[in-house]
Amino acid sequence: MIPTHLRCPTPGCGLESDREDGEYLCRRCHGLLELTYDYPRQDAVGWPELWRARGHGGSAADRSGVWRFRELLPLFDDAERVVSLGEGATPLVDLSRAASWAGVDHLSVKHQGANPTGSFKDLGMTVCITEAVRLGSKVVACASTGNTSSSMAAYAARAGLKAVVFVPRGAVSGAKLAQALDFGARVVEVGDNFDQAFGILRELAPKLGLYLVNSVNPFRLEGQKSIAVGLLEQCDWRPPDYIVLPGGNLGNTSAIGKGLRELSELGLLAQMPRLVVVQAEGAAPFHKMWSSGSSALIPVADPSTRATAIRIGNPANWPRARRVLELTEGLTTAVSDLEIDEAKRELAACGIGCEPASASTLAGVRRLRLQGLMDRGVRVVLILTGHQLKDTDYITEHLAGAAVVAGGSTSAEVESVVGRLV
Ligand SMILES: *Cc1c(COP(=O)(O)O)cnc(C)c1O
Repeated sequence: MIPTHLRCPTPGCGLESDREDGEYLCRRCHGLLELTYDYPRQDAVGWPELWRARGHGGSAADRSGVWRFRELLPLFDDAERVVSLGEGATPLVDLSRAASWAGVDHLSVKHQGANPTGSFKDLGMTVCITEAVRLGSKVVACASTGNTSSSMAAYAARAGLKAVVFVPRGAVSGAKLAQALDFGARVVEVGDNFDQAFGILRELAPKLGLYLVNSVNPFRLEGQKSIAVGLLEQCDWRPPDYIVLPGGNLGNTSAIGKGLRELSELGLLAQMPRLVVVQAEGAAPFHKMWSSGSSALIPVADPSTRATAIRIGNPANWPRARRVLELTEGLTTAVSDLEIDEAKRELAACGIGCEPASASTLAGVRRLRLQGLMDRGVRVVLILTGHQLKDTDYITEHLAGAAVVAGGSTSAEVESVVGRLV
């Protein structure tokens, strides 16, 4: 039952690799390996009830919004020995004001900022670090636009492993760096953008014996696919028409797509939601490929956007993300930094704080509506990927009107200033 092999999902390849090798690339075609399972399909009909019952929470694994769904993650012998920080139990919030701003009837957000380190990366990391421990790895490593490093550092600390982070020079928010440092990771500046840092890490990891936890690691996707499961449970298994998420390295697109595919094969999904990938205009190679009908991705050499979490020009997961869009009849779009600012302000006006990259989803829906590529009457769920406090400089430096007002130090001065404000 517990898989001992990883499989290459590239059509026409399908080569298997031994799980004990800790590899992520197919030896034959260099495709990214995946975990596949022989699910006991006849039992699946009872799983939603089982998962719901666990939600009331006895054990640590039952309280995790990843391990609660462990029938879909039959990866380890003992569910109680997983490396968990209680990730995944994130809220789904309906937003009527933002819905009318974007031009759709029903809009909700699934807020991944409510995870232990403040981003969806925690759902992947709990599985990936558990596998690192099982393999006997001592040092884990990633290249990161910030959130992967915060998350890896926390789970590595939890498991007693060393953590090494490669960050592009000056391209990561101070808050995310501070998290990694706080959890004791070694942080190394490498190159000027994510793609350079990641390229160097991929080359050095085998030489230095580092266990790579970027989203090319198949165990990351296994954890992140639970975002789809948790969301559907919150929707009472009535899928929305669209699930919208930002695309950087496209690991999350691949993961959520894998979750939907497996639920569908198990008969737990009444209808396949369409996945929408939103990129920033200055870092939109996947959108360019998909919208032009091309079958190969042309990397962007110098990606640019203030939404640093999606400032990626050469997304490693594009082939599987492409298969996900084919499966779900998905869409892509790209939005400007100005549109991201507007969307972020709109979410904030609903009481929802998030990172700029997360706000791109709302901007994307608005744009697709204006272009007539999405109907008004649809039900949309946005995946908000990261917490508001991940990038506070962005708020104070770029958002118009986000400034502190000088009040003075006497009651009279303050009275007159505040009097004008209210
Ligand atoms: C990592 C991240 C993304 C991009 O996700 P990918 O899986 O790389 O496409 C988007 N937003 C935030 C906040 C992130 O941390």
